[in-house]
Amino acid sequence: MAEKSIIIIGGGIAGLSAGCYGQMNGYRTSIFELHDKPGGVCTAWKRKGYTIDGCIHWLVGTNPANDFYRIWEELGALPGQTIVDHDRFLSVEGKGGKVFTVYADIDRLEQHMKELAPEDKKVIDAFIKGARACTRTSIDMPIGKAPELYGPIEGLKLMFKMMPFLRLMRKWGKTSTLDFSRRFKNPFMRQAFSAGFGGDLADGMPLLFMFMTLAWLNKKEAGYTIGGSLEFSRAIERRYLALGGEINYKSAVAKILVENDKAVGVRLADGTEHRGDIVISAADGRTTIFDMLDGKYIDDKIRGYYHQPHLFPPLVYVGLGVKRSFADMPPSVAGINFPLDKPVTIAGKKHRRMGVHIYNFDPSLAPKGKTALKVQFNTDYDYWKKLSQDLKRYKAEKEQIADQVVAALDQRFPGLAAQVEMRDVATPMTWERVTGNWRGSYEGWFPTIESAMKSMSKILPGLDNFYMTGQWVEPGGGLPTAAMSGRNVTQIICKKDKRAFVTTTP
Ligand SMILES: Cc1cc2nc3c(=O)[nH]c(=O)nc-3n(C[C@H](O)[C@H](O)[C@H](O)COP(=O)(O)OP(=O)(O)OC[C@H]3O[C@@H](n4cnc5c(N)ncnc54)[C@H](O)[C@@H]3O)c2cc1C
Repeated sequence: MAEKSIIIIGGGIAGLSAGCYGQMNGYRTSIFELHDKPGGVCTAWKRKGYTIDGCIHWLVGTNPANDFYRIWEELGALPGQTIVDHDRFLSVEGKGGKVFTVYADIDRLEQHMKELAPEDKKVIDAFIKGARACTRTSIDMPIGKAPELYGPIEGLKLMFKMMPFLRLMRKWGKTSTLDFSRRFKNPFMRQAFSAGFGGDLADGMPLLFMFMTLAWLNKKEAGYTIGGSLEFSRAIERRYLALGGEINYKSAVAKILVENDKAVGVRLADGTEHRGDIVISAADGRTTIFDMLDGKYIDDKIRGYYHQPHLFPPLVYVGLGVKRSFADMPPSVAGINFPLDKPVTIAGKKHRRMGVHIYNFDPSLAPKGKTALKVQFNTDYDYWKKLSQDLKRYKAEKEQIADQVVAALDQRFPGLAAQVEMRDVATPMTWERVTGNWRGSYEGWFPTIESAMKSMSKILPGLDNFYMTGQWVEPGGGLPTAAMSGRNVTQIICKKDKRAFVTTTP
């Protein structure tokens, strides 16, 4: 059979994954990526000798015991990498020296919570029971076959296999972490619990998702890759190029070319056209459907998702480089969260607590003896969109945010202000510009139980030879999901072309 060609829009993890599996299966693939580097939101940027990491906190599948490990192996993402398995998720500090540490070890977490709030034994027992149940339950989707290719019998078998998880979903999927925190009598735990499990997003974030995170961390299946997010993406880019794939940077796709309701290629923003037998969009869903395809291939279900979107909020992301080792701070997945004497105001919203991620466990991100820090706030897209029309005010706002953040950190770490060597503020406008993601949302659809259960189609009604992949068709997002989405879409294409789907490892 003559080699078919696939054009892939977007070189994030899903696009790179689709490219790798396409190459493994005998397709000739070309990726068109608007940015000048791979990875999409799985990225990092350098400032004054420091690296500001834009993504990985925990990566499910860093342990061979987890099924996703196989995908990372096939994509060449993990071999040779140093993995750090943190024993803490986060420490939430209160006034008067109280600290609630979310330990990855569930036994230790239980003991610690009961020491902090003995009066809440029952609530803690229920919480720990849920977390433990998750460690014993199969919580990851099987990776063998794309769900779209399941026959009725296989579907039933999957349901049966996932039954214990579905039971947990029924029990814990509708309780938000904020609702659960209200069950604590202990005033510190009431506050610290929601700050530790979801923060600003605790209202609406199902507790089940926190159980899942704890279960992965507990089993050491979700580590951090030293070198950070861009190095991780570059490893997959290397694998893609070694498989013979072609990647074009600074190549924004403006339109998907369609003839007789078949996708036949893409037109870039510079007007050049590129033809292919199949087109996959691994880019932002709204842009793909409504701009690249002019909203011509859509039905009510798809329109419904985009009409009243429930998205991950965009971020204000403050990177700092500090001449200090933070050797006395125990490393953790998400750092510390502490109360502020003076609130930090971002986009008109007052924040009375602030989290700081201390990368003292990754020496590659800072010069020797120094440390990269990151502070992030969920924010309001429309505020930033409006402000960005006035560049002077926009820049001034970023500066005053950096000032507030440094002052707040100086309160927690006296002397820090004088040690700051680098400060960088990214806003939703930055995310939008460099990744094209709708309203700056960094992870697509917000994971409620309803959205997580929604199957979003990888094809559009009435359009042939066209597929979508990545976080905009996989509610909840995340790196393993993006990689699996690229793998699954290739399986679907192979099935249509009557080819056996094959995978290789480097
Ligand atoms: C701060 C942060 C922390 C995170 N932490 C974690 C974590 O700890 N663990 C985890 O698993 N996940 C995490 N995630 C989520 C995870 O990174 C994403 O869900 C995943 O990387 C999405 O991959 P994707 O390929 O689907 O989309 P994207 O990364 O958005 O890729 C889409 C690509 O398409 C390109 N593109 C867009 N429009 C065009 C166009 N017109 N033409 C050409 N190219 C285009 C973009 O530039 C981009 O490269 C985090 C994300 C962020 C931002």
